[in-house]
Amino acid sequence: MAKKEDFTPLSKLGEFKLIEELTSNFTLNQGSSILGIGDDAAILEPLTGQTLISADSLVEGVHFDLTYVAPGHLGYKAMVVNFSDICAMNGLPTQVLVNIGISNRFGLEFLKEIYAGIKAACDVYDVDLIGGDTVSSYSGLNLSVTAIGQADAQKITKRSGAQENHLVVVSGDLGGAYMGLQILEREKSVFQENPDIQPELKGNEYALGRQLKPEARTDIVDLLEKLEVIPSSMIDISDGLSSETLHLSQSSGYGFALYEEKIPIDPTIYKLCEEFNLTSTTVALNGGEDYELLFTIDPKDYDKIKGNPNLTVIGHVTEKGGECKLITRDNKLLPLNAQGWNSINEKNY
Ligand SMILES: [Mg+2]
Repeated sequence: MAKKEDFTPLSKLGEFKLIEELTSNFTLNQGSSILGIGDDAAILEPLTGQTLISADSLVEGVHFDLTYVAPGHLGYKAMVVNFSDICAMNGLPTQVLVNIGISNRFGLEFLKEIYAGIKAACDVYDVDLIGGDTVSSYSGLNLSVTAIGQADAQKITKRSGAQENHLVVVSGDLGGAYMGLQILEREKSVFQENPDIQPELKGNEYALGRQLKPEARTDIVDLLEKLEVIPSSMIDISDGLSSETLHLSQSSGYGFALYEEKIPIDPTIYKLCEEFNLTSTTVALNGGEDYELLFTIDPKDYDKIKGNPNLTVIGHVTEKGGECKLITRDNKLLPLNAQGWNSINEKNY
């Protein structure tokens, strides 16, 4: 992170110079990018298929806390959460536009660190930054990102295609990002009480990584293509398994049944849940920001995904107009509800 003494007020730079400082090391690598930053608008020429566009904002105090989020991680995460929405349509991200609202308490050095994170994500995901804006904000920092992607028309997966008896599949594992946030919040309050105490972050790298540096599952989009599986419906998990399942159910018009024992949770996350006196299933259902993909497939495709370590079948689609339910380990049926991110109740579904 930039030292306190390295502080170049943004007012010292003109808009042109600022854009130059922040974006001079970005290059265009996608064949569909004809013109990037530097004119009134960018120019794209879609190569094949259809274009996907998605926008999302990250607002200080709502989506992130600069006490423990480094600006580089913030830039990276702002990209990834938008790339994840393109993946959720079974497409791959290709270009991105970034608007930053910034107050005068931040200097050039801080902005440069955010852009270093943006650049790192663009490099990892092979996405071109093609434009955006930097404006003054009176209410803290906010990042507004528009991601553009592409996919073949017949491959694009909406939320609305789930059919009775289709299997419900999730990538990766769940609950890690929420537990990472719990650790950061705990260490923040310890620090506020006694600034001499060093944060206890060791041994919790997995959870912290899931929270601070999430990844978009472009690899799953590639894998599905390789396996020749087109999901019937799909969404990315930003708010928790429960509310995303409800979205698929509402859009498709069918009920969903999930099995508690099938929900994939990393062993280190189980341990952390115990430490924090939280039920791991609750954390997986109602925590968020894991950015895994939740989708349904026709049962005839089961053999193609069977045994793949990246994919877990966690349930099935039930009758038309049905409810969404969790079947617990002791065979009880619990209705899923959209508690969302901030309302996890201890030992409670
Ligand atoms: Mg989404």
